[in-house]
Amino acid sequence: MRKYHLLAPGPTPVPAQVLEAMARPLMHHRTPDFEALFEEVREGLSWLYQAPGDVITLAASGSGGMEATVANLMSPGDAALVIEGGKFGERWTEICRAYGMNTEVLSVEWGRSVDLGEVKSRLEKGRHRAVFVQASETSTGAKHDVEGLARAAREVSPETLVAVDAITALGVYDLRPSEWGLDAVVTGSQKAMMLPPGLAFVWLSERAWAAAEKARSPRYYFDLLIERKSQRKSTTAWTPAISLVAGLKVALGMMREEGLENIFERHARLARGVRAAMGALGLEIFPADLMSEAVTAVRVPEGIDGKAIPRKMQNEQGVTIAGGQSGLSGKIFRIGHLGYVDESDMLVAVGGVEATLADLGYSLEKGAGLTAAQEVFGK
Ligand SMILES: *Cc1c(COP(=O)(O)O)cnc(C)c1O
Repeated sequence: MRKYHLLAPGPTPVPAQVLEAMARPLMHHRTPDFEALFEEVREGLSWLYQAPGDVITLAASGSGGMEATVANLMSPGDAALVIEGGKFGERWTEICRAYGMNTEVLSVEWGRSVDLGEVKSRLEKGRHRAVFVQASETSTGAKHDVEGLARAAREVSPETLVAVDAITALGVYDLRPSEWGLDAVVTGSQKAMMLPPGLAFVWLSERAWAAAEKARSPRYYFDLLIERKSQRKSTTAWTPAISLVAGLKVALGMMREEGLENIFERHARLARGVRAAMGALGLEIFPADLMSEAVTAVRVPEGIDGKAIPRKMQNEQGVTIAGGQSGLSGKIFRIGHLGYVDESDMLVAVGGVEATLADLGYSLEKGAGLTAAQEVFGK
C-alpha cells in the first residue's frame, strides 16, 4: 500500500467531505433543490471574491473562463495588451489571437514581475481595449502586482479594461476585484477551491458588463450575458456540472468556517515554511521579485537532472510535485501549497525533496529542510 500525496500547484487535494457530497445520487438541475443549492453557492462565491455582483459559474476548466473573458469583453481587431511572463501569460496571448485581437505582448522575463512603468508606457502609446495579466503566474511562481497595475492603467488609459487570471490567487491571498478596480477576475475549481477540475468562475465589473453588451466576438456556450440572466434566477443556461456544484457548496462552507484572513495567513505560512526549508538545503527560489503564496518554484541545482526530481518523488514516494514547463523544463521544480493543504503536507514535500536530491547526488544535510520548515510552523 502507498498513500498518495498530491502537492502540485493544481489540481490540488479534495477534502473527504467534498468528495462525499459529490458522490451522492445525482439530482436534476431544473428543480427547486438545485436552485436552492445554486443560490447558496452564488452567495458564497461573492463572499470569496470580496466583490458585489455576479460571479458566473461555467462548466469548463480555468482556461474556459479565460476564453469567456476575451470573447465577452472584446471585438475582433480590438487592441489587447498581454503581460506575458510565463506559460499562462502565453495562454492569454493565444486566446486573444484566436479571437482575432490586435494583440500586443509585453514580454516579462520568466520569474520576474511586470514593471508598472513599462505597462504605463505601453498603455500610453496604444488605445488598448483591455490588458490581460496573471495575478499569480503558476508556471514561474511569480506574482504580478495587479492592484498597482489597475491603478497605473486608470491613470494613463482610463478606458482600458483590466482582466486578471486569478486562478492561483483567489482564495490564496488577498485580492479585491472591486476595491482595486479590476474588470474581469477568473478562477477555476481545482486550485484554491479544493475541488476537482471542471468549473471556471468569472466576475466582471459594471463597466465590463457594459462592454460585454457591445462586444462583437462570436460566442455561444460562453455567452456571459445569457449565463447572467439564468444564474440570477439560480439556474444555468446549459446543464451545469451538478456534482461539482454540490461539492462547491461544501468547499465554500469549509472556507467560510476558516475565514478569509485565516486562509490567507495559512497560505503565507506554508509558503514561508517551504522557502525556509529550501534555503536551508542551499537551494535558490526561482522568482526574482514578488513570490506567489500559491507555489514555490525552486531552481534545480547545477549538475542535477531536474526532470528526474518530480518523477522520482512520484514513483518512489507517491508525492506529486511539478516540474518546469516549456523553457523552464528541467530547470525548476514547483511545490504547490494551495487549497486543502497544511503544515504536515509541506513536511512531506520537504522530506521528499531532501531524499530525492540526496539520491540524485546533491550534497545536503539531511533533515535541515525539515527543521527549518518546522521552525517556521512552530512560530
Ligand atoms: C491552472 C491555471 C490555469 C487554468 O488551467 P486549466 O488547465 O484550464 O484549468 C490558468 N491560469 C493559471 C495561472 C493557472 O494556474
